[in-house]
Amino acid sequence: MFLIFLLSLITRVIMFSSARHINFLRQTITTLCRNNSTLVIAEHNNQKLIPSTLNTITAAISLGEVTCLVAGTQCKQVAAEVAKVKGVKKVILADNEVYTGFLPEALTPLLLAAQNQFKFSHIVAPATAFGKGLAPRLAAKLDVSPISDIIGIKDKDTFVRTIYAGNAIQTLKSKDNVKVITVRGTAFEAAGHEGGDGTVEDAPSCDVKNDLSQFIGQELSKSDRPELTSASTVISGGRGMKNGDNFKLLYDLADKMGAAVGASRAAVDAGFVPNDMQVGQTGKIVAPDLYIAVGISGAIQHLAGMKDSKVIVAINKDPEAPIFQVADYGIVQDLFKAVPEMTDLVDKN
Ligand code: FAD
Repeated sequence: MFLIFLLSLITRVIMFSSARHINFLRQTITTLCRNNSTLVIAEHNNQKLIPSTLNTITAAISLGEVTCLVAGTQCKQVAAEVAKVKGVKKVILADNEVYTGFLPEALTPLLLAAQNQFKFSHIVAPATAFGKGLAPRLAAKLDVSPISDIIGIKDKDTFVRTIYAGNAIQTLKSKDNVKVITVRGTAFEAAGHEGGDGTVEDAPSCDVKNDLSQFIGQELSKSDRPELTSASTVISGGRGMKNGDNFKLLYDLADKMGAAVGASRAAVDAGFVPNDMQVGQTGKIVAPDLYIAVGISGAIQHLAGMKDSKVIVAINKDPEAPIFQVADYGIVQDLFKAVPEMTDLVDKN
C-alpha cells in the first residue's frame, strides 16, 4: 500500500516538476543510495607505490571504505602491494599499454567507467604533479569542482586547505555529490604497508583509445638520495649558494646524514639545480623531521613549502633574515664556513 502511494507520489512529482526539480530529485535519490566509499587513485611507477599514496590512503580511510585503483603497464605487483596496505578493502587493476606515462587523457575514461559502476562518494589522489594533472580533468568530466591540496578533513563534506601561500586556513563544505580531492601528503600519516588483506579485481572495461595525447618519453633525474617529499631530513640551498657547483657542499653533508637536497626558487631560476628540487608554494611541500635552510632568506613562498617541518635550522649570514623567525635553531655565519664544519662534525660522530 505504502509502496503504491510512494510510486504515485514520485510519478506526480515527475509529471508536475521542472527539469531542475527532477535533477534535484535524482541527485537526492543517488545520494541516499550511495554509501560512503572512497576511490584512491594510486600513484606508482609500475613497480612500486610512490610514498604519498600511503598518506592519501590514510586521508581516504576517514571518508569511507577504501578501494584503490592501480592503472599502468605491467603493474600487477603494485596491485598486490596496495592490497596489503592497512585499510584497503579492494584494489581494481587496469593493466594496459594505453596507460604508459599515466596520461590524464587516458586515465580519465577509466575513472569515469569505475565511477559509473561503483558510485564512489569521494575520489582521492595525492596532491603531486600526477594527482594535480588528473583531478581537474576528472572533476570537469563529472561536472563537479575539484578540491585541491587538502590538509584536513572535518567530515565527509568539509575539508581544510591553505590559501595565500600558506598564510590562511580555509574550511570549505562541498555540496557536490561526488568529491574529487587531492591530498597534501605531509598533512596525513602514511598508512601501514602491512596489515591489509584487500581483494584484487579487474577494473571495469572502458574505451581505452586515447587520440588526445601520446606519451613520448621522460627524463627522470636519478639520485641515490631519498625522495624530497618523503625524506626525514631535507637540506635546501638558496641564492646564497652562489652557483650550482657549490651545491656539492650540501650533497656531501646530505650523503652523510641520509638527507634529501632541495632548493629555493631563486636557486632553481638561476640554474644552480633542476626545478624538481624546488621547495615552496610553486614547488614541493615538505614536512621532514629536520629541515636545514642554507643561504635562504625565508620568503613566504618558500616557507609555504617547509614551515610544517618538525625542526628547522637556518644558516644565514644576515641576522635579520626572515628565515630566523620560523627557525628553531639559527646559525648566523657564512655558509661556506658553517656547512663544511657541520659535515666534519657529522663525520666524526
Ligand atoms: P634570496 O631572497 O636572495 O636570499 C638569499 C639569502 O642568502 C639571503 O638571506 C642572504 O643573506 C643569504 N646569503 C647570501 N650569501 C650567504 C653566505 N655566504 N652565507 C650565508 N648566507 C648567505 N620561492 C621558493 O623558494 N619556492 C617557491 O615555491 C616559490 N614560489 C613563488 C611563487 C610566486 C608566485 C612568487 C611571486 C615567488 C615565489 N618564490 C618561491 C620566490 C620567493 O619570493 C623568493 O624570491 C625566493 O624564495 C628567494 O630565494 P632565496 O631565499 O634563495 O634568495
